[in-house]
Amino acid sequence: MVDPLSSPAMPQQTSSTRDTRIAADSAWTAADSAELYQVEAWSDGYFEVRADGRLCVAPPDGGAMIDLYEVIDGLRERGLATPVVLRFQEILADRLQRIHEVFTRAAAEDNYRGRYLTVYPIKVNQQRPVVEQVYGQGAAFGSGLEVGSKPELLAVMAVTADDRDARPIICNGFKDSAYIEAVVLATKLGRNIIPVVENLAELRMLIGHAERYEVRPVIGARIKLSHRGAGRWGASVGDRSKFGLFASELLDMVALLREHEMLDTLQLLHGHPGSQLQDIRRVKEMIGELAHVYAELQGLGAAMGYIDIGGGLGVDYDGSRTNSSSSMNYTLEEYAAEVVHRIGSVCDDRNIEHPTIVSESGRAVAAHHSVLVFDVLGVSARDRFVIEESVDDLDPDAPQPIYDLFEAFASVREDNLIECYHDAVEGRRQVTELFALGFLSLQLRGLAERLFWSTSSKIQKLAGRLEELPEELEHLEQMLADTYFCNLSIFQSLPDIWAVGQLFPIMPIHRLDEEPVRRGVLADVTCDSDGRIDRFTDVRDVRRALPLHEPREGEPYYLAALLVGAYQETLGDLHNLFGDAHVVHIQTTAEGGWRIEEIVKGDTASEVLRYVQYDPERMHTQLSRDCELAIEEQRLTVAESRALLGFYESALAGYTYLSEG
Ligand code: PLP
Repeated sequence: MVDPLSSPAMPQQTSSTRDTRIAADSAWTAADSAELYQVEAWSDGYFEVRADGRLCVAPPDGGAMIDLYEVIDGLRERGLATPVVLRFQEILADRLQRIHEVFTRAAAEDNYRGRYLTVYPIKVNQQRPVVEQVYGQGAAFGSGLEVGSKPELLAVMAVTADDRDARPIICNGFKDSAYIEAVVLATKLGRNIIPVVENLAELRMLIGHAERYEVRPVIGARIKLSHRGAGRWGASVGDRSKFGLFASELLDMVALLREHEMLDTLQLLHGHPGSQLQDIRRVKEMIGELAHVYAELQGLGAAMGYIDIGGGLGVDYDGSRTNSSSSMNYTLEEYAAEVVHRIGSVCDDRNIEHPTIVSESGRAVAAHHSVLVFDVLGVSARDRFVIEESVDDLDPDAPQPIYDLFEAFASVREDNLIECYHDAVEGRRQVTELFALGFLSLQLRGLAERLFWSTSSKIQKLAGRLEELPEELEHLEQMLADTYFCNLSIFQSLPDIWAVGQLFPIMPIHRLDEEPVRRGVLADVTCDSDGRIDRFTDVRDVRRALPLHEPREGEPYYLAALLVGAYQETLGDLHNLFGDAHVVHIQTTAEGGWRIEEIVKGDTASEVLRYVQYDPERMHTQLSRDCELAIEEQRLTVAESRALLGFYESALAGYTYLSEG
């Protein structure tokens, strides 16, 4: 995975204008870009391409659009460079409201008599401003928070302080005695806190603490759903899932609670079907199973009252509305209608009251509101290879494969593309072998390389004119794509791309009224060959190269990854010690502008170094000592030493990403 030899040095921007470039269409408009990047399909109405070629946030309340380029420019003026995560508070608020409204409407239409509650699982994005905003916004709908660990519980206890509404706090995940004791005491404090039992050991501890403190908590039980999960997070479900109780254990739980005269405390049944459910059939199966278990528990004498369907509501990252792993083949409306109808009909059949439906939708709440903007540092283009020599310039002793490569290069026509491509591939293979055996000079190897890339470029260009692209040439677009070196760490800012092959919409935020004539893949600044993006969203298929503009000398070129508000920030890691990016909270103003609500500065080099046990002050002292010795031994002048120490100091205090200029 790690390429120890790769260098972080960036190639300079090329100004390649060779003939393999797609000819720019002068009549190109911003609307063409919107179509090309399929903005309408994935944006859910939150983003639009404006006629002047800027990608804008379209505030859900219909207010004035926020120009992302203008925001980045404004941040630059304030000394804040890219990469930067922009958070749009209105979008977050709107997601929460939409989900609540759609469920409430579905319940009304289905004559469902129970309530609906959203509970935000903070693991999706634990940043304090996000959790505070979700919780604050949720006051209107009684929505609560979900935690999965002790530190998350500590955070939520603080966020919910002074809250007199006692909105639900659901505690999932594995718990130790101290965690459970804190939960029991928090109940005394007045919190509506519901520990969800994952195993019988937890239940025994819970009963023990409840009896000791004379508290009657509200308890939940998590069932191991038996329907096999699907998609990337399918392992959250089924017999092998690490979470929840088997049906037999659930019966043991009921027996134990009855023995302690606590059966009335069992009020919630929980089942989490895995994240990003792609297929509505899975939703139907799992909700049906959950509803039947709920009814059985009530039949066994548990008080019941809540059915918690977990997370799983998907986000249509590629806009395809299909069962693909970055999409979902259902709408929010369909999801809510299915959930409400299935639970309602099982309860009606069993003649029991409709419970409060709780959903722990995380991704669907948080994904849309964050945008990661990053700058392009340079481009390496494959079509920069030029052939100025002719076959007549060749040394007569040059080996046959070089002649074959010249032949393939010269004979490319629309009717022999595959044949020429085969010849070029074979020629290059033979040349590589000859070189490895010591029968070829580096000059001839270089010539062979240029011939191969130039022939492939010609073939790709002509193949683009064909009505149907031959299967064998399909990979050429990716093979010949330019590499755009980008100022970000995929491991830090878009970890799911690396970890689970997730796709996010990615596009330029400006110049969208110009045709993007290049096709590129993206490489990040880490020294890791996995730090690249070469799969992009498309409503029909996965795109292997992204349409991009040729960067202009002396002018920044910014790209954005969208819908990145869920999971990316906390899952990110410090690979190569690239730290957290800056995060900026943006709010629209009544006057139709925008303002910065909060800036959370990204990590400095000192901060990430401290994280891995270095002491920056000591490091500086050590280096100063070294410099003094070098001055004494006349290896450095005082001025040089000062310059070196100056660099060291400012780099320690600076951002971990590359800076302009
Ligand atoms: N609830 C639980 C217990 C989870 O484990 C998760 C995430 O995996 C969620 C809720 C959130 O799921 P999603 O983001 O798919 O809505």
